[in-house]
Amino acid sequence: MKYDVIIVGAGASGLTAGISAARKGASVLIIEQKEKAGKKILATGNGKCNFTNKYQSLDCYRCDDSTFVSKVLSNFDMTKTLKFFEELGIYPKERMGYIYPNSEQASSIVSVLLMECDKLNINIVYNEKVTKISRPDFTLTTVNEDKEENIYKGKKLILATGGKASPNLGSDGSGYKLAERFGHKIIKPLPALVSLKSPDKFCKSISGVRCPAKVMAYADSKLLSYEEGEIIFTNYGISGIPIMQVSRYVAKALDTGKKVYIELDFMPGKSEEEIFQILKSRCKNSSKNLEQMLVGMFNHKLNYVMIKKGKLDPGQLIIKDKDLMRLKDEIKSFRININDTNTFEFAQATRGGVATNEINPMTMESLLKDNLFITGELIDVDGTCGGYNLQWAWSTGYIAGNHILV
Ligand SMILES: Cc1cc2nc3c(=O)[nH]c(=O)nc-3n(C[C@H](O)[C@H](O)[C@H](O)COP(=O)(O)OP(=O)(O)OC[C@H]3O[C@@H](n4cnc5c(N)ncnc54)[C@H](O)[C@@H]3O)c2cc1C
Repeated sequence: MKYDVIIVGAGASGLTAGISAARKGASVLIIEQKEKAGKKILATGNGKCNFTNKYQSLDCYRCDDSTFVSKVLSNFDMTKTLKFFEELGIYPKERMGYIYPNSEQASSIVSVLLMECDKLNINIVYNEKVTKISRPDFTLTTVNEDKEENIYKGKKLILATGGKASPNLGSDGSGYKLAERFGHKIIKPLPALVSLKSPDKFCKSISGVRCPAKVMAYADSKLLSYEEGEIIFTNYGISGIPIMQVSRYVAKALDTGKKVYIELDFMPGKSEEEIFQILKSRCKNSSKNLEQMLVGMFNHKLNYVMIKKGKLDPGQLIIKDKDLMRLKDEIKSFRININDTNTFEFAQATRGGVATNEINPMTMESLLKDNLFITGELIDVDGTCGGYNLQWAWSTGYIAGNHILV
């Protein structure tokens, strides 16, 4: 049998593409290398699936071509996504713009998608990995765990394989090779939404400490990006949402050999002068030593590290203004050197992928190969935390399927 469309990958964009194509009357086959569909969806939002966000702006989608993103999102936006899921049975719940299913179960999202696939007679084969695509277009070879091969034929093809982030959930980067087979240029994939590694020994001693901070990422002393929120020190470096948000810029800077560091401002709402005065008043008429004086301001482990980083003595009783200035510098610009990102295994998204100037944003069809469509994280667009990566997957998937003309 020759299918109207074959979709590689039963993830967020692949399932959505399958549904919109089948609704147009196409016969659809989805090939998935894992034992079930939507494994990554199940892991999203800590199992609750933050599937989109009420607040949409182009800044939430990172790539070099914002016009491309804008065209895709104006074609199938957050409102259409909510309607699509509400029709499938998802009752949405919003928390500070973040949108989840009211059940707070990512499995609800996968279930409603699969129920719709079933209703539309979409054929899904599991445990088969697409390894080769050959002529006549499109002849796909798959391999299963027992190394047995199968051949499938389709008139149109949608590559919905995801990127390289969290490969244990299925997206192992094999989609890049499949896209390259058609001449597509792949912008080097790098981890995004990932924690950062530091060679600084003090990280280990404050591992587990959480605190609010403004995070500023620098490369060769140039500010790359900044964010505010709760950071978490780990025994290998630093994590937390603001760190993940800046990580895609750090990944690129490190990849191009730049010297990267993060500066933390632990009191972004206060000026340097205000902090100096706060410290000074804490020392006034006090018999406390430097470390004791800081108790109650920050986590005690962090206090100690700030004192040592400022080349001060925790036990010193005579505290001069110049010592307070150094302490103030640590509070406002606490520096952590960064020598790597965490690996793809720990990343929530991929920066890089199929170049956007090779895809038609109105249809998701390849500009290099007729009847080939590319969706989701495989494309060189990555979203910030907050439901934007899934929004990208739903939008691109829906558009591709909707343009499968039978
Ligand atoms: C832990 C975690 C939490 C996240 N939380 C959120 C969140 O709350 N909100 C949000 O918006 N985003 C979140 N994301 C990101 C989001 O899940 C992804 O960006 C999105 O799922 C990408 O959709 P996709 O369809 O492009 O790829 P995927 O969902 O990765 O699906 C690709 C599918 O293709 C299959 N496949 C790959 N290659 C082949 C092949 N050669 N043959 C056959 N099958 C193949 C894979 O097995 C996989 O099932 C999170 C990611 C992670 C890892």
